[in-house]
Amino acid sequence: MAANLAAGCIFCKIIRGEIPSAKILETATTFAFLDIEPLSEGHALVIPKFHAEKMHQLPDEFLADAMPVAKRVAAALGAENYNVLQNNGKLAHQAVPHVHFHVIPKPSTDKGLI
Ligand code: 5GP
Ligand code: ZN
Repeated sequence: MAANLAAGCIFCKIIRGEIPSAKILETATTFAFLDIEPLSEGHALVIPKFHAEKMHQLPDEFLADAMPVAKRVAAALGAENYNVLQNNGKLAHQAVPHVHFHVIPKPSTDKGLI
């Protein structure tokens, strides 16, 4: 499964190390790092090393690898309560056009939905 990255994409640049990030872990097909504007402490993003804007455009192998990595990220964060979210398209609140999975820890004091 060869990585397929795009020149102008901010998340592809993070994968290539051209933009700094707080890396949590990396596998052959995925990269996980802390969100720059965290909704809670430890808010992380898991991204495939394949530039696709939306989930249905992502090859199955990359999609399949993302969930075990999200699991490892939640464990690394020590999160017992957390949301895993994934947005596709502007109307669905996707801001960065490279598939990503949010892992958002929920502190015990949090009363909100997200
Ligand atoms: P979306 O709304 O597309 O599902 O979420 C995009 C997320 O990417 C946002 O939570 C935003 O804070 C995060 N983000 C955008 N640019 C950067 C960046 O340059 N570095 C990091 N670490 N996170 C980013
Ligand atoms: Zn990209």
